[in-house]
Amino acid sequence: MGEFVRNCRLCKEPIESTPFALCATCLLESNRVQSFVIKYPHVSIERISEETEVPSDKVKQMVKLGSN
Ligand SMILES: [Zn+2]
Repeated sequence: MGEFVRNCRLCKEPIESTPFALCATCLLESNRVQSFVIKYPHVSIERISEETEVPSDKVKQMVKLGSN
């Protein structure tokens, strides 16, 4: 039951078959955060959030999940 639906690892929204563990929105946001962090590895979560327009709670989760 429900094997084809999983939940986005970030926002917990149910997502359908995708090779990623994130929904489309979170995937885009995650890409923004990642490319920002690559350029500026030592900035704070708050700064990342401001620059990428991703809520800081979400940025924290992304950092915790590791970037892949
Ligand atoms: Zn999501």
